[in-house]
Amino acid sequence: LSLATYLRDRMSEAEIRILDGQMLKISDILKELDRITPDIVGLGPIWLNYKNALAIARQSKKIKSRVIMGGHYATGLAKEILANRGICSDDYCIDAIIQGDGEEAFYQFILGLPFKKIKNLVYQKPKAGFIEFNKTESLDLNNLSISDRNMVDVENYFRISKKKVLKPSYKRHLYFYSKKGCAWRAFSKGGCVFCARMYKDMRTRNPELILEEIDYLVKKFKADFLWDVSDNFFDGKGWFDKFYGIYKDYPFKPTMRIYARANDITEENMKKIADMKIKQIIIGLETGDQRKLISLRKGPTASIAASKKAIKLLKSAGISSYGFFVFGAPNETKESLKKSVEFIHELNELGMTKFWPHILEPYPNSQAFHLLRKRTGDKYKNVDLFDKDQVINDWVKNFCRVSFSEIMTQARKLEFLPNSGYKYS
Ligand code: SF4
Repeated sequence: LSLATYLRDRMSEAEIRILDGQMLKISDILKELDRITPDIVGLGPIWLNYKNALAIARQSKKIKSRVIMGGHYATGLAKEILANRGICSDDYCIDAIIQGDGEEAFYQFILGLPFKKIKNLVYQKPKAGFIEFNKTESLDLNNLSISDRNMVDVENYFRISKKKVLKPSYKRHLYFYSKKGCAWRAFSKGGCVFCARMYKDMRTRNPELILEEIDYLVKKFKADFLWDVSDNFFDGKGWFDKFYGIYKDYPFKPTMRIYARANDITEENMKKIADMKIKQIIIGLETGDQRKLISLRKGPTASIAASKKAIKLLKSAGISSYGFFVFGAPNETKESLKKSVEFIHELNELGMTKFWPHILEPYPNSQAFHLLRKRTGDKYKNVDLFDKDQVINDWVKNFCRVSFSEIMTQARKLEFLPNSGYKYS
């Protein structure tokens, strides 16, 4: 929507269609592509649907569209994707990739500017075959218009989001973002070992602009539930207090869900959180073993004590806490896994609302992925399409001191708890 809004502002004559894979089957997208025969096709795959994205790219090439990819997955694997799908490859279906912010680069690609002049663009040189990486630039988020939700049928999103929002009493659920990137990832040059975010910096949006967007979502679409999808609501020096200062008196506050780090859930912030009608907080608690917090590179502020305190504070304020856990940390052992399982039970007693135990997935662009690629020789070198289960298995084999089946046994024990958000079977 952000890309589409940027184009709408600059090319009112362009016909822009958003074909969302959450709404449409791949067969419907391919049919629609044939029907509309677009000049340009932009794709934003994740690793679960990259195979489908390639099917769309190949079909697009058949109808002579120019094809460009962006997003976290394409940013992390730009070189490999273009080596395998670029103009000199046997499976040519991608003309270029955008790394990081796509609004201006996509616009310039559509205008037909020479590739070497487009910042953030990566492309394969015809004939020579090598991959050219242009300079990257981050946009000022405050110069971007508020995304125009009318470019899709929002009612469809209300229908699917009913399944995603945990309380069915909320009927009109929409998203916004308060920032891009994460301060810890920017500061530590990589962040948590499993983090695959494409942004190297952390940028906040002006609180005034966010308030304007919230007001638009509430008044125009009657949104009753908003989800800030930014990595940490408390990131950015002074941002939280500034936002609180202008938002606390807004009279039409919808219920809100945010992401946070446990150490930001403090006594001092609790009243402000409640005043802003934040009712659900998702926290990456990861593990019950302090040493595994270190091997996961969660940063100096992460601790078992902070995790417990956060759950207790949220419980006492009547705010739902959603804990995310990662099994398969570097050097995970039977003992550390056991500690995590016991910790989840302990947090449940303290009032954790719901929890999700995940197996560490070494997403492309994460440090885990780079470590795995280094350790496995040629296996994942120059590869852009992966068997996800195989990658996870290889991670566990190479970096954990416990087997994959032992991890699954522990994870499956937890799925029977009434507040488990994840079912493995
Ligand atoms: S996983 Fe979250 S906290 Fe860790 S570096 Fe990534 S965005 Fe930051």
